[in-house]
Amino acid sequence: TNRLTAALNRIAPSATLAMSAKVTELKEQGIDVIGLSAGEPDFDTPDFVKEAAIKAIRDGETNYTNVDGIAPLKKAVAAKFKRDNDLHYEVNQISVNNGGKHTLFNALVATVEAGDEVIIPAPYWVSYPDIVQFAGGTPVIVSASADQHYKMLPAQLEAAITPQTRWLIINSPSNPTGAAYSADELKALGEVLLRHPHVMVMTDDMYEHIWYADTPFATIAQVCPDLYDRTLTVSGASKAYAMTGWRIGYAGGPAWLIKAMAKLQSQSTSNPCSISQHAALAALNGSQDFLKERNAKFKERRDLVVAMLNDAPGLNCPVPEGAFYVYPDASELMGKTTPKGKVIENDEDLIEYFLDEARVAAVHGGAFGLSPGFRISYATSNEILIEACKRIQSACAALN
Ligand code: PLP
Repeated sequence: TNRLTAALNRIAPSATLAMSAKVTELKEQGIDVIGLSAGEPDFDTPDFVKEAAIKAIRDGETNYTNVDGIAPLKKAVAAKFKRDNDLHYEVNQISVNNGGKHTLFNALVATVEAGDEVIIPAPYWVSYPDIVQFAGGTPVIVSASADQHYKMLPAQLEAAITPQTRWLIINSPSNPTGAAYSADELKALGEVLLRHPHVMVMTDDMYEHIWYADTPFATIAQVCPDLYDRTLTVSGASKAYAMTGWRIGYAGGPAWLIKAMAKLQSQSTSNPCSISQHAALAALNGSQDFLKERNAKFKERRDLVVAMLNDAPGLNCPVPEGAFYVYPDASELMGKTTPKGKVIENDEDLIEYFLDEARVAAVHGGAFGLSPGFRISYATSNEILIEACKRIQSACAALN
C-alpha cells in the first residue's frame, strides 16, 4: 500500500528546513546553538498590513475568491510592476498564488515535461531543481563560483543552451548568495537569449526590495524589452513585507502562461487565502517607506557579517548586493583537521563541525549546488551575529 509515485521519488525534502529542524531539536535539549539557517526576515509584518487583514475578516472577506487572485489585488500587482520595475502588465497577465514557491511551481509544472531542460545557475535556491524534476524535466546546472561573484557569465549561458532548453531561471538578488545582476549584466545575458528564441526566462525577484547597491534593482524584461513576451517576472509579499506566513506570491507574464497557471491552481489549491490577499493589497498600495528603514538595518548587518567572516582564517566572503544571506567560499579549509582529529573533506563536514564545536548552524553549499561554501542568513540581531561570527572565527582558527 505504501507505494509512492516516481514523480515524488525524484524530489528530496528541503535541506534548509532540515537544518532548522535540527536547531530546534538542539535548543530543546538546552544546547546554546545559534541558528543562522532560516530564510526569513526577523522583522514583523507591518501593523497597517495586519490591520487590513483584521478588517477583511470583519468585513466578511472570508469566502472563495477568483482562483488566481481578486481583481483589486491583480491591479495592485500590475501597479507594483509599473512602479518598481517599469513593466506594463494587463490584469490578465497577473497571477496571484499561495507564496512565491507556488508561483514558480505552477509555472514550471504547467510548462515542463520529460525531455525539457531548465538552466539553473548555481548556487541556486534549493527548490528549483526539485520542482523541475517533479515536473519530469532535467535541471542543467551552471556553476557560478565566488571568483565570478556567483553570477553566470553570458558564455556559460550560451554553452548550456540546447534545442531542449525550455527555461532559464534567474534569481536576483539570490538566495543563497545575495548576489544580484546589474542592468548591464542582464542585458548581456539577454543578448544570448535573443539568439535562442525557444528559451523562456523565469526571473525570481523575491528579494528585489532587500537591496543595498547604489544603482537601482533591475529585472530582465525591463532591461531587455525584446524578451518581454517570453519572461515570467516573479515576486511576492513574503520577503519584502515580512509576510512569510501569509503565503502570497505573484507574477506578471504572457497571458497564455498566466491562464495555464490558473488552470493548474483551479485543480489544486484554488485561491490564495482571501484574508492574506487583502493584507497583500494593503502592503502593495500602502506606504513603502518602512522598506528603507529595514534595509538600513539589514545593510549594517551585512557589513558586519562580511567583515567578520573575511577575518576568519580560510574564509573568503564576497559582498552581496541584496537579500539577507552571505555565502563564504571555504576552499582553503578543505583537507584541514579539527582539534578532535577529524579531516574536513567537504562543506558538509565543515557545517557539522561548526554545529558540534562552535554551536552555530549554517547550511552547507552542497545543498545549493556549489561547494565548498556555506550559507548564513543574517536576518537576526547584531549581538547574535557578532557572537556567531566570533564562534566561526575561533572554529576556523582551530583547524590545522
Ligand atoms: N524564491 C526564493 C529565492 C526564495 O528564497 C523563497 C523563499 O525562501 C521563495 C522563492 C519562496 O517564497 P514564498 O515563501 O513566498 O513561497
